[in-house]
Amino acid sequence: MPVITIRPGTYLIGGPELTFYLDLYFYAIVTNKDNIILIDSGSGKGFTNTIRNLMELGLSPLKVRYIINTHCHVDVAGGDYYFHNTFGTPIIAHEPDSLIIQHGDPKRTLAEELNIPFNPVPVYISIRRPVEKITLDDAELFIYHCPGHTEGSVLVLALINGFKVLFGGDSIIPDNGRFKVEVLEDKRKLLLDLDYHAACFNRFYLRDNAKETIETILLSSRIE
Ligand SMILES: [Zn+2]
Repeated sequence: MPVITIRPGTYLIGGPELTFYLDLYFYAIVTNKDNIILIDSGSGKGFTNTIRNLMELGLSPLKVRYIINTHCHVDVAGGDYYFHNTFGTPIIAHEPDSLIIQHGDPKRTLAEELNIPFNPVPVYISIRRPVEKITLDDAELFIYHCPGHTEGSVLVLALINGFKVLFGGDSIIPDNGRFKVEVLEDKRKLLLDLDYHAACFNRFYLRDNAKETIETILLSSRIE
């Protein structure tokens, strides 16, 4: 399956149909200078397919400037090691997930449960604050601490090419035709307060009317 354009400058480049069957969805943000920020990196088992997908977009994997992890689970952060080892890519994550990625804890990364090895990797920026801003060329990213799925889960709001795209990690999980919202109650407001056109999660994405859809999901979901 080819790479999917979510919005110009935002692409779905990895996932079960794209890179490896145990990879959850992960995404590339591409700036006006063809620099790349990855939001998550898959399990690592799909690394060579990820490189191929970047090249399919006409991009060099050497231009991946950062990987921002939405959380520390192996199915979204297992690819960090391969990027870091091959291209020296700096990794960004929020505490305490950043520490779990650095230590490769087999339980808290779900490596044991999913039976995928987690190779620990240094984290270049370990965020502690509730919100952190990163700018690269014409892309502006805001990283919000949003615990629930894990203690160090984040939401990333990207302003790219005139579009606002939310990256929600595993904070909302499709579950038998319904949705599980894994966000602590006092942080659910974030999903409602932020403004975005499209939303990219680890298990689904919304190209249009994302904010309205998320509002409906939040109103109809039970609090976990
Ligand atoms: Zn997860």
